[in-house]
Amino acid sequence: MTIAGKIILKKGKEYSIERKHPWIFSGAIERNEGLLSDGCWTEVADYKGNILGFGHYQNGSIAIRLLSFGKELPSSDFWKTKITSALTLRQAVNLPTPATNAFRLIHGEGDGLPGLIIDYYDGAVVMQAHSAGMHNDRTEISSALQEVFGKELKCIYYKSQSTLPGKDRSVREDEYIFGLGVVPHVINEYGNKFYVDWEEGQKTGFFLDQRENRKLLGDFSPGKRVLNTFCYTGGFSIYAMNANAQAVHSVDSSEKAIAITRKNIELNGFDDKTHSCYSEDTFVFLKDKQGQYDLIVLDPPAFAKHREARHQAVKGYQRLNAEAMRVIRPGGILFTFSCSQVVDRQLFYDTIVSSAIQAGRQIKVLNHLSQPADHPVSIFHPEGEYLKGLVLYIE
Ligand code: SAH
Repeated sequence: MTIAGKIILKKGKEYSIERKHPWIFSGAIERNEGLLSDGCWTEVADYKGNILGFGHYQNGSIAIRLLSFGKELPSSDFWKTKITSALTLRQAVNLPTPATNAFRLIHGEGDGLPGLIIDYYDGAVVMQAHSAGMHNDRTEISSALQEVFGKELKCIYYKSQSTLPGKDRSVREDEYIFGLGVVPHVINEYGNKFYVDWEEGQKTGFFLDQRENRKLLGDFSPGKRVLNTFCYTGGFSIYAMNANAQAVHSVDSSEKAIAITRKNIELNGFDDKTHSCYSEDTFVFLKDKQGQYDLIVLDPPAFAKHREARHQAVKGYQRLNAEAMRVIRPGGILFTFSCSQVVDRQLFYDTIVSSAIQAGRQIKVLNHLSQPADHPVSIFHPEGEYLKGLVLYIE
């Protein structure tokens, strides 16, 4: 990589970098040297000129995303080293295995690569850039992936059209930058089978972040009547079916998602007798379902994507959870989640308390849930924690 210029920080703005926080906000910059353009690499120095690290520059609120800390220039095998250490972490937590052959390989800041997401689906890789720098470096990243995985790697689908900064998004196509994939592609998760379609599907095609929570739901499902709302391609539903639930109902407002849920039910050897799909709004669906379910999953999309939307989002979570708590059978279990990063764990918990008060039922907290080990959080970057959930027992 070429280092295009140098950024000198204001006095005192070096502290967070010394503590390995990877973001530098535009207000921390004293001056620039060299020709900096969106997505280039820059050196970063403190007010005395001491080198603090190197990272991607981008004109915006987060002006620099640091990729390496300290004086040493990133080496020519920078990407390969980063990808290898991310893979080593996954292997340390027993991923992949034949029963679970899909995992998140790169989780942005959690893997020291702010702006980059890479998901691995049994030999097929989906790469998503959230910064101009990662977009510029996509060819180097692709070469490093090919080196690390060798023959095992079938394709790399680059899917960043909707995640890159707005201004020139329209000129960037989602495309294969290595090999060619065939969708839908089948993956295994704890022995459950899923079709993944990264070309047409949401995000990178599958919500890998709910793997451990789906497994727990499976443990609670035998003999139960299960309602999986915001089901997407039926993740929680398949686990419940494979765990011998009495009946499973899956609800999503997206027809496309419901169509794949149906195919996933078939793929796992089930039919319409014990499973039903509803392409509907969850809020509407729940209205007349009093006493019909023993186990309900609420896994909505992020109601708030930024701080300004937080208040409205909390109201949404409050209303949704109160409704589910109202209709669930006595002795029922509720799995409830929020993936809004700006709604933190405490705020989510307090919101659920408010729903419980409104529902007027006796409720006990059984489990606190979060994102799995292949979505790590750097201890110096707490903003990386986004998924939180509660398992509640409703008397
Ligand atoms: N639980 C899923 C992931 C959920 S993603 C899994 O394990 O794979 C959130 C889903 O909510 C998306 O599929 C989206 O289409 C759906 N959705 C958004 N708003 C909705 C609404 N009001 N009612 C029902 N589904 C909704």
